[in-house]
Amino acid sequence: MSGERRYLAFDIGGTKIASGVVSLPSVDSLAQPVVADVETIPTLADRGGDDVRERLVEFAVRRIERCAHDGVDIVGVGIGSAGVVDSVSGVILSATDLMPGWAGQHITAAVGEATGLPVHMVGDVGAHGIGEALYGAGRGYPTMLSVGVGTGIGGAVVDHGRLITGAHGVAGHVGHMPHGLGVGMRCSCGTTSGHIEPVASGTGIADLFESRRPDDVAPAANAAEIARRAAAGERYAVEILTMSARALGECLAGMGNLIDPAAIVLSGSVVNAGEVWWRALREGFVDGALPLLRSTPLLRGRLGGSAPLIGAAAAFAAYPDIRHS
Ligand SMILES: [Zn+2]
Repeated sequence: MSGERRYLAFDIGGTKIASGVVSLPSVDSLAQPVVADVETIPTLADRGGDDVRERLVEFAVRRIERCAHDGVDIVGVGIGSAGVVDSVSGVILSATDLMPGWAGQHITAAVGEATGLPVHMVGDVGAHGIGEALYGAGRGYPTMLSVGVGTGIGGAVVDHGRLITGAHGVAGHVGHMPHGLGVGMRCSCGTTSGHIEPVASGTGIADLFESRRPDDVAPAANAAEIARRAAAGERYAVEILTMSARALGECLAGMGNLIDPAAIVLSGSVVNAGEVWWRALREGFVDGALPLLRSTPLLRGRLGGSAPLIGAAAAFAAYPDIRHS
């Protein structure tokens, strides 16, 4: 016997809902999880939260029936969802305008009732963090800060395989760390008082580039183009990318000083921005970190797009005390 157990995992985002059958090896083994039979449906978030919940439940029932038909034994259902999640009640506490009516949805109760299986739900960023912590770049580091730098900036603190969620489920919101570089730039949370996300996410790098762009510098379509131009040595692109990454590094140092993680794992499209970005990130981190923390490894995530599904399954396995059915 391999000791592997199979879970049905869901990753609920603003544009699509992905599902896969995840086989988790024991955390102590060196084996990797396997994600099989991945299927996605569109979220169609503009139809409202009730509609999304109903179609999620239908999707889950269909997936479970398929597993039964194929003789795949499913231990439980792990869900990672967009929005702020209360894992204990299984309810979405808040969601952005991209998912109207998603807040207030009783997701785990609905899925548990329809499938007859135990269910555990975490936030999608938390799922990603647990996946990287237990089976990705954070493997072997008991306390880890996971940071996703893409369209926005999210994060999760994983301590011995479990999330530190805080009093309101909000812990780990790296993007809303204060930084002077963000003053005057509008954050996705609405503030212009200076958060890091509007100057260090993918869209933030592009906005920072445009906000200071001299007349003789060509506009840039996105952060990937800015990274390419920086790699080619264009001075203004190097300057902006360095400024942005350095500021993010300083924020990570602040979070590091608070929680003292054994490693910081970075994922998302912006981690592909090249050596200019990584060097400035590390410099900013070292400048802001307390002496004992300066050697904390800043690592690139390893699981890529599989991280949320693996993490949702791993979160189910990590919380035998919090399950709904
Ligand atoms: Zn903010």
